[in-house]
Amino acid sequence: MCGIVGYIGEREAYPVIVKGLKRLEYRGYDSAGVALRDGGLKVYKKQGKVADLEEYTVGKDLHGHIGIGHTRWATHGEPSDRNAHPHLSNSGNLAMIHNGIIENYAQIKQELVNKGYTFKSDTDTEVLLNFIEDIQINNTCSVEEALRIALKRVVGAYCILLISTDEPDAIIAARKGSPLVIGIGKGEHFLASDASPIIEYTKEVVYVNDYEIAIVRRNELILKNLGNEVQTPFIQKLDMELAAIEKGGYEHFMLKEIHEQAETVHDCLRGRLLPDQGKIIMSGIDNHLDTLVNAPRIVIVACGTSWHAGLVAEYMIEELCRIPVEVEYASEFRYRNPVVNKGDVIIAISQSGETADTMVALESAKEKGAFIFGVVNAVGSSIARISHAGAYTHSGPEIGVASTKAFTGQLAVLTMMALKMGYAKGTITSERYIHLMQELHSVPEKINEILKDTTAIQNIATKYKDAEDFLFLGRGYNFPIALEGALKLKEISYIHAEGYPAAEMKHGPIALVEDTLPVLFVATKDTYYEKIVSNIQEIKARKGMVISVATEGDSLLEDMSNDIMYVPEIDELIAPLLSVIPLQLLSYYIGIERGCDVDKPRNLAKSVTVE
Ligand code: GLU
Repeated sequence: MCGIVGYIGEREAYPVIVKGLKRLEYRGYDSAGVALRDGGLKVYKKQGKVADLEEYTVGKDLHGHIGIGHTRWATHGEPSDRNAHPHLSNSGNLAMIHNGIIENYAQIKQELVNKGYTFKSDTDTEVLLNFIEDIQINNTCSVEEALRIALKRVVGAYCILLISTDEPDAIIAARKGSPLVIGIGKGEHFLASDASPIIEYTKEVVYVNDYEIAIVRRNELILKNLGNEVQTPFIQKLDMELAAIEKGGYEHFMLKEIHEQAETVHDCLRGRLLPDQGKIIMSGIDNHLDTLVNAPRIVIVACGTSWHAGLVAEYMIEELCRIPVEVEYASEFRYRNPVVNKGDVIIAISQSGETADTMVALESAKEKGAFIFGVVNAVGSSIARISHAGAYTHSGPEIGVASTKAFTGQLAVLTMMALKMGYAKGTITSERYIHLMQELHSVPEKINEILKDTTAIQNIATKYKDAEDFLFLGRGYNFPIALEGALKLKEISYIHAEGYPAAEMKHGPIALVEDTLPVLFVATKDTYYEKIVSNIQEIKARKGMVISVATEGDSLLEDMSNDIMYVPEIDELIAPLLSVIPLQLLSYYIGIERGCDVDKPRNLAKSVTVE
């Protein structure tokens, strides 16, 4: 959560920072603010989006070649002007922005209050800032030294950027748990939560590691650990184009990303899935095939949409590899003292690769001797780095807060993984292996078919936009897709929705059915088809309105449903990659009909880097 940007160099800092913050707004949009160093420190901040900050700063003195900026997802203190970052220390000599949570802030705050410090905000950030100032005054030391001492006491997660009147030509940064990338230009440096604000200026970047402090000047970047030892920065070349993070003619990032899926799934499969040669090449798996195939069990750890991809993977891996699989919410797994044995394989799924709960769950499983396999979209992210092995989804930057193309990327990677492992283990025949490879290979083309004409889906959205509740039902491989459809609708349109296994609905949700309740069935032709048709009858008998996602040409369901959305025919194991697409579109269009800000739904942020 929270996007942070810093700039030091020849240019005016303000426009660079504001442009960068707009790219990071998916991380939070409760407030936005900047601090500029120009002689003294100037701070401008405002509740709301970056556009509100821009409006507020019209006519203000925005000059300065050093600056830091923040877009907030509130954890401590309501979204408001006074809780917005940057914060100023009591003396006014330090300005700071922060992404993360300082867990022991209350205790430190009490100590500072006893010493006479006052606080203008309710944030944990202002506490850390004044703690640093207090240490600096007591030890008559540099900000850098004070920061080092402070961070040894701090419990929690942070990425912070500091500017100070004492250090006129530097930005001081530190991270633990929240991401930080530094872009290296000619006589200038850019700092940000991810690379998107940086790519238009430079492709040379350094990903700062946990427990590192960076002292960033125009012509110098010094990295140190908390023991004050200088570290060698590992400079990487960014493999990302500016166009990839812009809207490219679509009205919203979400719509653009839905429409990109034929291409992103294709990118994910390219060079890996080779049905003609009967091969799947994935180095992360090839190099550890024995460990994966002989795992006594696999635990999939994820949150949100990634957790739904994990459920699909559970069904696939159990079917194809005959290895027991459990799917865990990272936030529960990390705290409930789970049994993890040496040799267990943990698959972590995360779009951003920075999900705080997933990270911590992995760290503890790793300590217990588990093998960690990361399925991540963001290259070089924390989860990618902590994993023993992994596979990127190659979905490109996902900016829309509700995940779409990252989900299909995850499904594509997990399907290849299950196929490769099953074949190596001998738990699937070569005919089935080749058949499923061919089916997977056909997915991009079939996604395009669904996307070619979305009028039917738009009409359904118009018809049901005023519904107060929705039920999403599915069986087998389509059960997780029912969950994902319900989640998407909640996120984007704020309509209450529940996803359920279709048969399970008789144990409760059926009580909700009346003639005003839309019940969406993900009912493509598969092993469970006859069963789900009976479930549809049960809903119809109670006058519920039935919307179906069905296989093209299914006239039986056409007759039974009030409304229908079609997907091309495909093997049931691969079906989730197609059946999710109409549900993404339906949520999008209902959200639009209801006037919702679909790219920035209320209260949400994309990359959940706090617990
Ligand atoms: N804890 C800080 C605040 O509430 C930063 C929040 C975040 O990074 O999400 O302002």
